[in-house]
Amino acid sequence: MTQIYLRVLASPNADVSNFRIEWDLYAANIILSRLAGVQVFTVAPTQILPPNVDISITDFLNDQQARRSLQLLDYNPDGFARDGRVISIYYLSGANSQTATTIDELSCENNRLTFPILGYTVMPSDVNSSASRFLLAHEIVHSLFARVVESQVDGRVQRNVDDSNPDPNSNGSHSNDPQNLMFPTVPSSQDFTQTDQLPANLLTNAQIQKIIASPYVFQ
Ligand SMILES: [Zn+2]
Repeated sequence: MTQIYLRVLASPNADVSNFRIEWDLYAANIILSRLAGVQVFTVAPTQILPPNVDISITDFLNDQQARRSLQLLDYNPDGFARDGRVISIYYLSGANSQTATTIDELSCENNRLTFPILGYTVMPSDVNSSASRFLLAHEIVHSLFARVVESQVDGRVQRNVDDSNPDPNSNGSHSNDPQNLMFPTVPSSQDFTQTDQLPANLLTNAQIQKIIASPYVFQ
């Protein structure tokens, strides 16, 4: 069985009611383990962000290179290696009308490569419902296709997008199929939260092969 590693951080003002984080992680693990044989692990209990690094998702997305955004991304109390093995998941306060966002996606598409931590996703407060439990899995799959990586070159930190495992979708990083996990508006998880049954054809075989081939999936 292959594995991926997450750490979860939450703003004290984020809506994480109704076991939201547990549900999101459960759905992500079911999707990735049942369909691709990849187990999802968290490397530490969920951390509550201290006030000095807390930020709303609106402020974060408005300027991801601002000092306060970088402070959040630099917050690393457990001292995890910044080599791409651990994906950081931030539950932030506030709404994001674009639904959820993975910063890997933003950084690839906008070519803004200055992010100092590797493979991270921000989750807004306005998508806490039984219909939106597949959102975290969607964002994690983005991270498995491409992410920002940090390396030392001649003693200096360089950050680049590692897209050596490019997304198999013809439409850039998203699928055109409304039933596919990687459709921009993630399919509803309403039935899943009632029955524990995944919708059919949530991922294509090509997507599954790419997930398994990700350099950030570990034996
Ligand atoms: Zn997406």
